Amino acid sequence: MDCQFICPSCGARYAADIPVWRCECGSYLDLEYMPVLDRARLNDQKTLWRYAQVLPLENTREVVSYGEGYTPLLPMEYCGVRFLGKMDFLMPSGSFKDRGATLMISKCRELGLKEIVEDSSGNSACAVAAYCARAGIRANIYMPAGNSAGKTVQVKAYGATLHLIEGNRIDCANAAIEGATRSYYAAHAWNPYFLHGTKTVIYEIAEQLGWEVPDYFFMPVGSGSQILGVFLGLTEMKRAGIIDRMPRLMAVQSNKCAPLKDYAEGRETPVSAHNPSIAEGIAIHRPVRLKQIVHAVRETGGDFVTVDDAQILNAMKEAALQGVFIEPTSAAAVASLEQYNGIINKNEKVVVSLTGNGLKAWNHFHLYNGHLST
Ligand SMILES: [Zn+2]
Repeated sequence: MDCQFICPSCGARYAADIPVWRCECGSYLDLEYMPVLDRARLNDQKTLWRYAQVLPLENTREVVSYGEGYTPLLPMEYCGVRFLGKMDFLMPSGSFKDRGATLMISKCRELGLKEIVEDSSGNSACAVAAYCARAGIRANIYMPAGNSAGKTVQVKAYGATLHLIEGNRIDCANAAIEGATRSYYAAHAWNPYFLHGTKTVIYEIAEQLGWEVPDYFFMPVGSGSQILGVFLGLTEMKRAGIIDRMPRLMAVQSNKCAPLKDYAEGRETPVSAHNPSIAEGIAIHRPVRLKQIVHAVRETGGDFVTVDDAQILNAMKEAALQGVFIEPTSAAAVASLEQYNGIINKNEKVVVSLTGNGLKAWNHFHLYNGHLST
């Protein structure tokens, strides 16, 4: 497969068969790769690998897979807004990050890597550790101390080496980059293969809706590994003539950590020492691909939405009463619908990404129970 890394900042190119993780100028890299899906050639697998023809892997024998993907779209309702919940919390490691990890770790195996480094607030750490376990690759995971215990237990259970770092996500990323000087920094926030994995969610949704896209797609946004994959998939499908419009991409963040909205409105985001919100998966003060995320939202006519912790807890409770047990970060996207009651028309189709399993965040349950009793 003839694709290269390209730097969106300085235009430098790198061969995609060498383990480079950023440009010499310091920018992240993208992949120069624009495949066209031929729907007549879709394979029969009911996993995300049914879209293998648009995934940038040279050698499908190196695929590291648990049969992930093809999650249900479930009709739900919140604050008078009817929506379809994309049940990605049902993935093998319990979050949508498995989409990115299956592709990124497959590529690491194709490159012959034996050891990698990743940093994460939790879910991508779990996903990368799970896929490394299956691939036979040693995983060094850097996580902020104080995050959900469910996630640290899960990472260790997969056999990864866990490095807990005091401080915030920036301190954690710096420690991981230092650690990566001895192996390879396979970071979901930087690695473009991860985005080519997460893009499968929008291919799936389009296929599940009869090759249509919804009018709105709400999702929690931290480092942007989902929204950028979705925008990539939409760009590919539009270029292939499969769709003729894009859904509004609605980027949901906590009001305590909203760098996207701050950037869009010309403000600096203050960096706090610890995770400021119970939505720990999106408490990322300086996303590596921030400008790229803002571009994706604006290009689709979407918006930046913020919610507070009380709204998140209420959405967790309401989703659970509909049988859907999701973690606070995922509930943030559901919570944001309250602001769209009366704005979204009844005939418009809304999809909300339900990104992570509620069992991972059991250390927040005391808040949840307190909320239920009030
Ligand atoms: Zn560059």
